[in-house]
Order: sequence, then C-alpha cells, then structure tokens
Amino acid sequence: MSDPRTIFIEEAVQGRNDEIAATNRQLFNRLRVFSMNVMSAPGSGKTEFLARTLTDTFDKFSSGVIVGDIATDNDARRLMRSGVDAVQITTNGYCHLDAEMVARATEAIDLDRIDMLIIENVGNMVCPASFDLGERMRVVLLSVTEGEDKPLKYPTLFKVADVVVVNKLDIADAVGFKRESALENIRTIAPQATIFEVSARTGAGMQSWYDFLCERMELEY
Ligand code: MG
Ligand code: ZN
Repeated sequence: MSDPRTIFIEEAVQGRNDEIAATNRQLFNRLRVFSMNVMSAPGSGKTEFLARTLTDTFDKFSSGVIVGDIATDNDARRLMRSGVDAVQITTNGYCHLDAEMVARATEAIDLDRIDMLIIENVGNMVCPASFDLGERMRVVLLSVTEGEDKPLKYPTLFKVADVVVVNKLDIADAVGFKRESALENIRTIAPQATIFEVSARTGAGMQSWYDFLCERMELEY
C-alpha cells in the first residue's frame, strides 16, 4: 500500500516549485533575458557545447550561466573562460536543479546586463524533466556514444524538449552510431523538437544552432 503522506509532500514540493518557476519566468521576461535549460546524461558534452556556444556568440549577445553539478565547480570554471558570468550550484547530492536553486543563483548574476541566461542542469536524464525552472527553452543533448534508443528509454525528457542536439558527430563512425535510427527515435518521441547535429569539439553544425538561437531571441524580444 502506498503512503498518502508521501504523495502529498511531493505534490506540495512540486506545486511550490511551479510557483517559484513562474516568478523566475516573470523576472526573465521583464528584464528581457532569454533563458534556456540544458539537460542530458552525464558526459554528453553539455559543458563543451555551451563553452563553444558562448565563445562563438560573444560578440552577438551577452550571456550568464548557471551550472548545476552534484559536486565540484570545474564546469563553471571552464565556462568562465568564455568570458561570461558563471555561477555554480553545487547540489550536494541532489540530482537535478529546482526553481528555487535557480532563483538564488540568479541573485548573483546581473540580469540587467545580459540577453541570455543558460542553465546547465545536473547530468541526469530522469528528474530534471519534471522541474520547471522558469526557462523559455529546453535543450536536450544526446551524444553519439549513448546509443540510438536513448529517446525511447527516457521519453519524459525528450517530450519536454524544444531542441534536441545530437553531439560528438566527429566520433559517430568510430562508435558505429546509427544516425537514421537515432533521428527516427527522436522524431517519434519528440516531434515538437528542432534537431541539430553537431560536434561541439570541431564546431561542425554549430552555425545552424546559432542562427536558430538568434532567430528565437529576435522573435521573443
Ligand atoms: Mg557539465
Ligand atoms: Zn533529481
């Protein structure tokens, strides 16, 4: 038998998260900050993808980054080298970011000064999907080393994605990546998502992602 108290507590926490997420969203809208929540399994190359994005768009718009990790601030340090404001949230074991963590982290960023806020979520394909952070756009990364059936195994995450980025194309052949079947799985689970195929390491495919980003930001603001 299930324990109803557990259910009530979870609903209360989720409800509170949604309230704070709504407040975050209002703040970002008011200050015209375009926000994105970037999610993937650990090791899909989120930080490398974001570092290159930040470097290559540096002259177009100013950005801030919030980085969630279970431990260490290595990723935030790495992203700061792109010349942007970066705030690390070390979750101390928590496997996802929630709206309150983001609200606290944004206090350390000058939102008036930035056009884009990137939130790198904790590497995890399960619970980040259930926590609205107040973002405008959800980006899910899938690297070619992970197998073509990832979207089928983690449908919840792919179903909330506005963008799916297939990363590490430079090693696709070496790992026997089945491109057609991966794309078919993404399109089946996430027909709403715009798909980009890139190598954040070599830069291949990144330009269409930047064009899309610029277009979205112009549309919104
Ligand atoms: Mg990272
Ligand atoms: Zn979690």
